[in-house]
Amino acid sequence: MSERAPLEPHIAYCGLDCSGCDVFQATAWNDDGIRQAYADKVYKSWKIVVEPARLNCHGCRDERPKSGFCATCQVRQCARDRGYENCAHCPDYGCDKLQRVHAAMINVGKAVNGVASASLNLEAIRRQLRDLAPE
Ligand code: SF4
Ligand code: SF4
Repeated sequence: MSERAPLEPHIAYCGLDCSGCDVFQATAWNDDGIRQAYADKVYKSWKIVVEPARLNCHGCRDERPKSGFCATCQVRQCARDRGYENCAHCPDYGCDKLQRVHAAMINVGKAVNGVASASLNLEAIRRQLRDLAPE
C-alpha cells in the first residue's frame, strides 16, 4: 500500500485536532477499513451499534452534518453562535461547557499528561494571540 500524506490540521472550536480522528481520516481517505474498525471500537467500548457507512465527517468547522457526540455538541453551537474561530478567542474561555467537553475527552483517552489535548491546543493559540496583541 502506498504511503498516505499526513492530513492538514483542522482545529475544532474546542481545540481538538480533527485530523487525528478516525472518522475524519476515514472520510478524507474514503477508507471503509477505518470506518469498520471505528464502529467495532465503539461497540466494544460502549455497546453502541454504529453503521460504518454513516461514519463521515469533514471536521468540526465544516458545515456538513456531524455524527455521535459532535452532532449535539454545545461548545460547537456556542462558538458558532458567537462567531469565534475557536474558544481560544472567547472572553469566557474556560466556561463550564468547554470544561465538560475537555473532561469527556480525557475520559475517552484524548489526553496528554492527563490534560485534554484540545485544551493544550487552545492554550497554545491563546499564547499566540497574547504575543500578537498590541502593548
Ligand atoms: S467536541 Fe464539539 S467542538 Fe469538539 S470537535 Fe466535536 S463538535 Fe467540535
Ligand atoms: S462561552 Fe465557552 S463554549 Fe462558548 S465560545 Fe466561549 S469558551 Fe467556547
